[in-house]
Amino acid sequence: MSRQRFLDAIAPGSRAAKVSFGTGTSIACADLMEATGARFPEAHLDAEKMADLAQTGHTVLGFDVVMPLFSVCHEAAAMGCNVKWGSPSLMPESGNPIFKDESDIRIPDDLLLREGCAVPLAAIALLKRRLGPAAAVCGKVMGDWTQGYHYFGVENFLIGTLDDPDHTRRILDRLLPVTLQFARAQIDAGADCILLADHATRDLCSPRAYRDFVFPLHQRLAAEIRAPVVLHICGNTADRIAMIARTALAGFHWDTKTGRPEEVRSLAGEELSLMGGISNFTLLRGTAADVAAQSRAAEAAGINVVGPECAIPLTTPLANLKAVAGGRG
Ligand SMILES: [Zn+2]
Repeated sequence: MSRQRFLDAIAPGSRAAKVSFGTGTSIACADLMEATGARFPEAHLDAEKMADLAQTGHTVLGFDVVMPLFSVCHEAAAMGCNVKWGSPSLMPESGNPIFKDESDIRIPDDLLLREGCAVPLAAIALLKRRLGPAAAVCGKVMGDWTQGYHYFGVENFLIGTLDDPDHTRRILDRLLPVTLQFARAQIDAGADCILLADHATRDLCSPRAYRDFVFPLHQRLAAEIRAPVVLHICGNTADRIAMIARTALAGFHWDTKTGRPEEVRSLAGEELSLMGGISNFTLLRGTAADVAAQSRAAEAAGINVVGPECAIPLTTPLANLKAVAGGRG
C-alpha cells in the first residue's frame, strides 16, 4: 500500500526498491479546488474542506502521501498574527509583526485549541480515518527561524541576527516549543511524518547563519519529534545540504534551483532521504510530457519521493500535476 511505500522511501538510508510519489508541501490549485468544492479561504479554516482538498493528492494525483496544511500561517494565526487567509487565487499572509523583543513572546496556553492549530489537527485525524493504509498523512510545522519572520518581521529579524546574535538565539529558543507542541499534536492526531518548513533560503540565511543559528535547532527537532521529519528549504541549498545531512533529520525536500537531482544526491550522501525533483516552472509552463520526463530523471538519480519541489502555483494545470506520478508505480 502507498502509506508503507512512502514510509519506506523516507526512512534514512532508504534502500526501498520502489520510488514513492508525493510532497510535504501544498498541492492546492484552482483545478483541485473546483473538483472538490473545497476552496481557499475555507480550505484553511474548515477541517472537512481541508481534508477534502488534501485527499486529492492521493485520489486524483496518485501520490502516496497527503498533506493538509496549505499555508505557512497556521501557527502564526494561533500565536496571534492577523493572518489574511487569501482566496482561490491568493495564498495567505501572516500580517504585520506582533513582537519587538524576546520578552514579548507569549505562547498561549490554548495554542493547540485555537483555529490555526485546531483545524489542521482535526483534518489530519479525518485523513487518517479516511485513508488508513491507502496513503501516508504528512503534517507540517514551521521552523523557529521562519516563525521569527512572522512575529518580528523579516527585516527586523534578520537585522537582529547581525546586531545581537544572542538575542536572536534566545528568540529561537523561546519559539522552539511552538514547533514542538504543534508537531507532537499532529503525530497524536495521526500524522505519519512531519514536514519541517524553514525558510532558511540562501538569500535570507547565509551558510554561516544556518550553521550558527538554525542547524542546532534542526538537530534538536530531529531528536525530539518522534516521527520521521523531512526538512523543506526553498531556493538553492547546495551550500548546506551536507550540514542538513548531519542533523539526523530523516529527509530533505529540495528546490530544483539547487541543481540537478544527481548533484543533489551526491551532495546529500546516501543516508539523507530526498523528496522533490519537479520544478514549479515546469509544472506551470511545461507540458505533461516535460513533467513526466523530470519525474523519471529524479527517480533515476535516486530521489526517494518524487514530487513538486515546493508549494505549487495556484494556477498549475491539473494535467501537469497528474503527470508527476503518471500512473506509474
Ligand atoms: Zn519552498
